[in-house]
Amino acid sequence: MIALGQQIENKFLEAVNKKSGSNILECYQCGKCVSTCPVSSFMDFPPREIMQMVKLGLKEETYMANSMWFCLTCAACSSRCPREIDIPRVMEAIRHLAIEENVDPDNPKVKAIRKFHEIFLDMIKRYGRNYELRMMAEFNIRTRNLFKDMHLAPKALLKGKIPLGHEKVQRAKAIQRMFKMAEKLEKIK
Ligand code: SF4
Ligand code: SF4
Repeated sequence: MIALGQQIENKFLEAVNKKSGSNILECYQCGKCVSTCPVSSFMDFPPREIMQMVKLGLKEETYMANSMWFCLTCAACSSRCPREIDIPRVMEAIRHLAIEENVDPDNPKVKAIRKFHEIFLDMIKRYGRNYELRMMAEFNIRTRNLFKDMHLAPKALLKGKIPLGHEKVQRAKAIQRMFKMAEKLEKIK
């Protein structure tokens, strides 16, 4: 039995708060974030419910949800949150924690989005910008879906929607240094 005033340890809440710089306990479940979010209807749990799940320490259930992977980081929700919670940063924090803890999502769409994130960041790290053609190829290879959207490629190439090469970024090395610095900072935290 929990005594009145007794503090219940919630390491998951602590970790999300620390990483996001927010205090999720401030959320009073008004639901404004849900009505503003353009993708809430596609999420397993809309932002309001994610806040509650973190408050309750439901780590596994939160990690298995597609919500933080579907989040577009548009910040429409946080602009209306009366408690000024930085909801996109909370979503990002949960994404990072799930990666750090090597959570293997069983939802194939979540797996694909996660791969997309990894490949996109890899492109920026290597070339300083996105290299669309290579990104599409790597995505198809890494998701073992070699011919996905291949029928669209000739049209897109002819119309110049997908450049064959990639423009050189002048300060690509500086971007690589930024990545290294961010990785170091992550380890210190
Ligand atoms: S808008 Fe803010 S306070 Fe309201 S439910 Fe969403 S996160 Fe909680
Ligand atoms: S930042 Fe994410 S959770 Fe917030 S409104 Fe945009 S998509 Fe929805």
